[in-house]
Amino acid sequence: GSTIGILGGGQLGRMLSVAASRLGFRTHVYDPGEQPPAGDVAHAVTTAAFDDHDALDAFAASVDVVTYEFENIPTDALDRIEAARPIRPGREALRVSQDRLTEKEFLEGLGLTVAPFANVHDAQSLEAALESIPAPAILKTRRFGYDGKGQARIGSWGEAEEALAAMQGAPSVLEGVVDFQREVSVIAARGLGGEVACFDPGENVHEGGILRTTSVPARLTVAQRTDAVLLAGRILNALDYVGVLGVELFVTPSGLVVNEIAPRVHNSGHWTQNGCAVDQFEQHIRAIAGWPLGDGQRHADVVMENLIGDDIARAQELAGEPDTALHLYGKGEARPGRKMGHVNRILR
Ligand code: ATP
Ligand code: MG
Ligand code: MG
Repeated sequence: GSTIGILGGGQLGRMLSVAASRLGFRTHVYDPGEQPPAGDVAHAVTTAAFDDHDALDAFAASVDVVTYEFENIPTDALDRIEAARPIRPGREALRVSQDRLTEKEFLEGLGLTVAPFANVHDAQSLEAALESIPAPAILKTRRFGYDGKGQARIGSWGEAEEALAAMQGAPSVLEGVVDFQREVSVIAARGLGGEVACFDPGENVHEGGILRTTSVPARLTVAQRTDAVLLAGRILNALDYVGVLGVELFVTPSGLVVNEIAPRVHNSGHWTQNGCAVDQFEQHIRAIAGWPLGDGQRHADVVMENLIGDDIARAQELAGEPDTALHLYGKGEARPGRKMGHVNRILR
């Protein structure tokens, strides 16, 4: 059998590993951390820094194809690996999604709607940005942000200075606050031959910048649902994408606004593990391995709830509930804001 290399050994890498293993693949996880959650379930683990050339070369030599669970892998490491093995999804998807500014320009270039945005690098450019995008607005770092980290709300002019200080000099974008009715996401997949399949859009609720729940079906009109799926397909094709992609959307009365894209399996797609014959993790493995995409049709209504920090204390209780599937990540310490697991409740 062949071996799939996975860059990043968090919970996404772990669940990718399990899915790969079910299809008979071996996995090799590469992560700079000490005891990556994916390490428990992968067939091989390398814990080395992303600038360790020998480790990168040995990793690449041991696998047939390389994928990743997070988008912020250093470019040099990717270059080195790509000299030996294919990386899927490809480099263009990573280049675009590593930088919020590049990503917004790309989406706009496709004719999609994004929040009004402006490049910010100092007090002067922030002042200029606030002229065209008046408060309320959100300042976000262009790179490395996740779970709402690296963001500051600017409710009024007076809060600009404080927000800028919070960015600690990092290149940023100012975004207008979108007055959305709800948030949804599309988990979409594209195969090696260019075929596209989308899971049913999920409706997302965030708390403090972190995803709390995803519910399917999302409350969308037929037109909105069609639009969501079509725009995801447009993004996939434009990137000549291979694998699973997450597209986060704001629903507004005047149409869908793209918040951001993630070139990987996505937290808001975890419901597919118990709502579809083929879930997002298997779909991703199928795509990058050049297999046919699987049947991702939804066969149940599902609510996915993240278990964050101390929520993990409820795991045993949840395990005893009917129509409830528990997914735990095997992480040791339950720090506040740390994703420890999730639960999929099947609604009948
Ligand atoms: P993720 O973990 O999803 O990568 P992130 O750190 O990249 O998160 P965003 O997705 O940019 O953060 O924002 C987190 C949440 O904050 C959004 O899901 C949404 O609820 C809210 N938010 C972000 N940008 C806007 C906006 N322009 N208008 C309104 N709400 C916003
Ligand atoms: Mg993000
Ligand atoms: Mg987001």
